[in-house]
Amino acid sequence: MTDCLFCGVAARDVPADVVFEDDLVLAFRDINPQAPTHILVIPRRHVGSAAELTPADDPLWARLLHVAQQLAIADGVAADGYRVVTNIGRDGGQTVGHLHLHLLGGRHMTWPPG
Ligand code: 5GP
Ligand code: ZN
Repeated sequence: MTDCLFCGVAARDVPADVVFEDDLVLAFRDINPQAPTHILVIPRRHVGSAAELTPADDPLWARLLHVAQQLAIADGVAADGYRVVTNIGRDGGQTVGHLHLHLLGGRHMTWPPG
């Protein structure tokens, strides 16, 4: 999709601190980190949000989660725990309209989120 910020990151047109990529997904550090570890994991292909996923996307969704799990280990936050979250739509707090998992770790998370 044109004019999508994270499609631009996936195409490497928009600079980002990329920490992982494969054929399906890309992961990069959030430009405005909310925790010592704050990594975004996105599908290379444009998907607007998790609300647009279909059963055909089950392997993609599993891959996104698995990459988040592995990056939590690689970033040294897995032992103490971490949070994986995806915001959906306006009330969900989504500001970039390309599906992304937030991997947050390195500090204690509170609940409920704001
Ligand atoms: P959302 O609010 O949609 O759940 O999350 C969007 C995230 O993207 C925010 O945490 C925001 O800081 C991050 N973000 C926005 N623009 C950029 C950018 O150009 N580069 C990077 N690395 N992160 C961005
Ligand atoms: Zn996109």
